[in-house]
Amino acid sequence: LRKNIPYARPLFTESFYRLLSTRPERKLQDKVALITGGASGIGRAAATTFINNGAKVIIADIDQQHGRETVKELGPNATFVTCDVTKESDISSAVDFAVSEYKQLDIMYNNAGIPCKTPPSIVDLDLESFDKVMDINVRGVMVGIKHAARVMIPRGTGSILCTASVTGVIGGMAQHTYSVSKFAVIGIVKSLASELCRHGIRINCISPIAIPTPFVMNEMNQIYPHLESERLVEIVRNVGVLKGANCEPSDVANAALYLASDDARYVNGHNLVVDGGFTSFKSLEF
Ligand code: NAD
Repeated sequence: LRKNIPYARPLFTESFYRLLSTRPERKLQDKVALITGGASGIGRAAATTFINNGAKVIIADIDQQHGRETVKELGPNATFVTCDVTKESDISSAVDFAVSEYKQLDIMYNNAGIPCKTPPSIVDLDLESFDKVMDINVRGVMVGIKHAARVMIPRGTGSILCTASVTGVIGGMAQHTYSVSKFAVIGIVKSLASELCRHGIRINCISPIAIPTPFVMNEMNQIYPHLESERLVEIVRNVGVLKGANCEPSDVANAALYLASDDARYVNGHNLVVDGGFTSFKSLEF
């Protein structure tokens, strides 16, 4: 009112208008997002952040128990679908569910991933675990993109995200099979960006440093069964480099929010590292 009729007597106090103008912007208002591996860790944090920013979120996870618990906690804007990303039919159905339930899919976040047991050398490579990791971390991502593109291309818009890792930026930081899978995720994003951008679809990935989610802590428990869980969390946190801050799932979720939103409307084919600077200046010491 004050803007349109400059001399109008204000209906409310100045502080009320200020309060309105500083209300946090909801960057994903009315957007629909599907998040694989959304029942835990980074995916769960992304679901929370997306919903807080006005999105409807479908959590697609193999873990039914945690998936159902998560949507109960997140409220009416979250839905759970059982999805094993190694099964194309599960991913296809999850995408179709988004379209039938919410009429559209705006954001596809291919986040589900697993670690790999650590053999001491390439000579001990176990092909069964190699295939399993590739099936989830690489093939699952590729199939996720395929089905997201299937429904996004006709609308001429969409944002696709994937979770890679700093171990896909610098070799030799983690078990080789896992590292290879994350190099592949970054490669997928870079190689598909040119095709998808012709349809108005952006594709980007995020590479976090170590975060003590169940994913990492289960691994740590196996490597150091004699250590207390607090000590293990401390070890994981020590990989971090930024003084006074630990990397949290919410840090990755905020990066995902940026890439998913129109704030990143000209960002495509990018790998956004969330590592406190680790890959910029620590790599030589590692
Ligand atoms: P997490 O274990 O907390 O969550 C992973 C989720 O993926 C779980 O809910 C699990 O049930 C689900 N999942 C596993 N296999 C699946 C399948 N076949 N189909 C569907 N869902 C499946 O782990 P997180 O740390 O949140 O990991 C999420 C992603 O982040 C992974 O891709 C991981 O590689 C990546 N990442 C994690 C870290 C870290 O330090 N935690 C660092 C860099 C990258």
